[in-house]
Amino acid sequence: IKKIGVLTSGGDSPGMNAAIRSVVRACAYYNVDCMGIYRGYQGMIEGDFKEMGPRSVHNIVNKGGTILKSARSKEFMTAEGRAKAYENLKEAGIEALVVIGGDGSFTGAEVFNKEYKIPVIGIPGTIDNDIFGTSHTLGYDTALNTVVEVIDKIRDTASSHNRLFFVEVMGRDAGHIALNAGIGAGAEEILIPEEDLGLERLLESLRRSKLSGKSSSIVVVAEGDKIGKNVFELKDYVEQNMPEYDVRVSVLGHMQRGGSPSCFDRVLASRLGVKAVESLLEGKSNFMVGLLNDKVALTPLEQAIKGHTEIDLELVRVSDIMTI
Ligand code: ATP
Repeated sequence: IKKIGVLTSGGDSPGMNAAIRSVVRACAYYNVDCMGIYRGYQGMIEGDFKEMGPRSVHNIVNKGGTILKSARSKEFMTAEGRAKAYENLKEAGIEALVVIGGDGSFTGAEVFNKEYKIPVIGIPGTIDNDIFGTSHTLGYDTALNTVVEVIDKIRDTASSHNRLFFVEVMGRDAGHIALNAGIGAGAEEILIPEEDLGLERLLESLRRSKLSGKSSSIVVVAEGDKIGKNVFELKDYVEQNMPEYDVRVSVLGHMQRGGSPSCFDRVLASRLGVKAVESLLEGKSNFMVGLLNDKVALTPLEQAIKGHTEIDLELVRVSDIMTI
């Protein structure tokens, strides 16, 4: 392999820049050319490429977002779109790809590899931590720190006014952010999609915490939680049933995806980028590089896409005990 292309696709996450930097520098280390592909698969279709050398990625290890930009590409879902992308890669001499993104991006990589036999390695970049084959996705640790910092601030105002706050955090299908940040920030209750607590149990738990002398409470709710249709309906329900509470809602939203990556995410990105390039140079393809038991490990892309990440039941138990 003489030239590797790198792209970021799907939702962005902190640490993607550090991963781009790592891929570019690992290529330089092994004397392989590296081409940055802008705006994910859409840029591949449009031939939006740029040669990258070790100096073109200076000063980005600390930056959130992605200098290569990210996109969702409908055109890449079509055979015609992928044919255009392949022509552009061929013309640019790109012989292998590193795809930094979530499971949708990995699915695109698999489909493309099946059709055109271009070797691909995936790096998991999403704050949700919902990808099988890695204990941590890029950006997850940073997002946890962001959420904890914000909840600490909300707690200050909650306790000044004896309020109950519902704080909605990201996680459409996975409660990893809610569960970990909830424990870290000392939430009274954590509502996650994997566990249907039920409205009655939520009320019971709030009543208990009131009786135990707590005057304010924080409930962390994952976006995808199933017990209420949305966090505002939860608020209405609790207000109707517990009029003594002054209930507020805070939806954290996209701020969770931004910010300077944590040291953990920077180190992880650096390790995964190097391993991705080394794997391609060893002739491997269709794998995701991830972290398993603190070691960098490869998981077949297919498993990474289809496998289900489980919520840690020990954490659920710890959270229950903490809210006594
Ligand atoms: P996030 O977890 O943040 O949503 P993601 O990588 O899962 O990130 P998606 O929007 O699902 O984000 O996928 C990114 C892109 O991957 C899509 O816009 C599309 O171009 C490509 N892609 C996804 N699925 C397929 C598929 N079945 N065939 C071809 N391309 C696909």
